[in-house]
Amino acid sequence: MNQFQYNKANESLSAVKLAAKDPNAHFLAGGTNLIDLMKMGVVIPSKLIDINHLPFSKIEKMPHALRVGALVTNSDVAENDLIKSHFPLLSLAINAGASPQLRNMATVGGNLMQRTRCPYFFDTTMPCNKRSPGSGCGALEGINRMHAIFGASEQCIAVNPSDMNVAMRALDAVVHVSGPKGERAIPIADFHRLPGNHPELDNTLQKGELITAVDLPYTPFTKNVYYLKVRDRSSYAFALTSAAVALYIENGTIKEARLAMGGVAHKPWRLTIAEEFLKGKAVSEDHFKQASQIAMQGAKAYQYNQFKLKLAPNTLVQSLKMASGIASS
Ligand SMILES: Cc1cc2nc3c(=O)[nH]c(=O)nc-3n(C[C@H](O)[C@H](O)[C@H](O)COP(=O)(O)OP(=O)(O)OC[C@H]3O[C@@H](n4cnc5c(N)ncnc54)[C@H](O)[C@@H]3O)c2cc1C
Repeated sequence: MNQFQYNKANESLSAVKLAAKDPNAHFLAGGTNLIDLMKMGVVIPSKLIDINHLPFSKIEKMPHALRVGALVTNSDVAENDLIKSHFPLLSLAINAGASPQLRNMATVGGNLMQRTRCPYFFDTTMPCNKRSPGSGCGALEGINRMHAIFGASEQCIAVNPSDMNVAMRALDAVVHVSGPKGERAIPIADFHRLPGNHPELDNTLQKGELITAVDLPYTPFTKNVYYLKVRDRSSYAFALTSAAVALYIENGTIKEARLAMGGVAHKPWRLTIAEEFLKGKAVSEDHFKQASQIAMQGAKAYQYNQFKLKLAPNTLVQSLKMASGIASS
């Protein structure tokens, strides 16, 4: 049994200081990811800093954004009236994840930080550069069915498993953090990172930094949105591919599009070139197919995930059709 110290944080500054001092300290929120990793010996903390009593459980209307506290549970975000009316895409994405019980425990901060579901990361008898830098990547030549088709490296081909993150990427969320050097705001595009030579780093947080809230800047995407998640089971399964689509349509013309995909990269994957292509185009299946082909440029598959080269564009086309209303479920 691995011993660890449990600390209940009553205010954020002391939580940050405690975390900054100890390289093996971890914040504990809902525990739905961290405790599993501890049980499997993937993460061996010296200290758990329980942040559940910090005042980050509110959803507040700000002038330019809706501010969601880091400790708001995934269920409370998805069912919140302000979220449902201003950011229905986020509700759809969150409700596509995990199970109701897990969503009742999981928090916004924890979801942003959740680790990959690559089986080689979870199996401590296997090589994994993310878990144990320098040990190799078991997935590269192994069973890589769930793995990345964009932005991978020779060091790591794991994907970010979150649904929430994909919608947040499409919505240009901004992550607020408090750390030993003060507070800062990180656009979600810069929050998660690609593996490169340091796959052990999932994101750009510095040691001791605590997520306090996420801002969702107001957008016109309140109507034509869709989140499609393709997975092995219809519930309680991570995405093989997913697509978050938000369209602003006027008189049958797409004025603005936001597109992001999950299950395809080490970070939620934004499709900006395809977004540009769709701008000013009429809503049509043909344009959606062209956009999805553009979105797939640069995709690279491995032995067991070749199917994603077809599944990913199909996921995007279907999601665009659903969002625009030219298809129904
Ligand atoms: C069986 C199962 C199925 C699942 N299916 C899905 C799915 O389909 N889709 C999906 O998106 N997710 C899925 N999940 C993952 C789930 O969404 C995450 O476990 C959850 O979001 C993590 O949130 P938490 O609050 O429990 O985090 P914790 O487990 O408490 O923490 C996770 C990590 O985040 C860090 N952390 C937490 N809060 C903060 C903060 N405020 N600042 C800095 N660091 C912080 C912790 O230190 C830890 O490293 C599933 C989980 C399980 C167990």
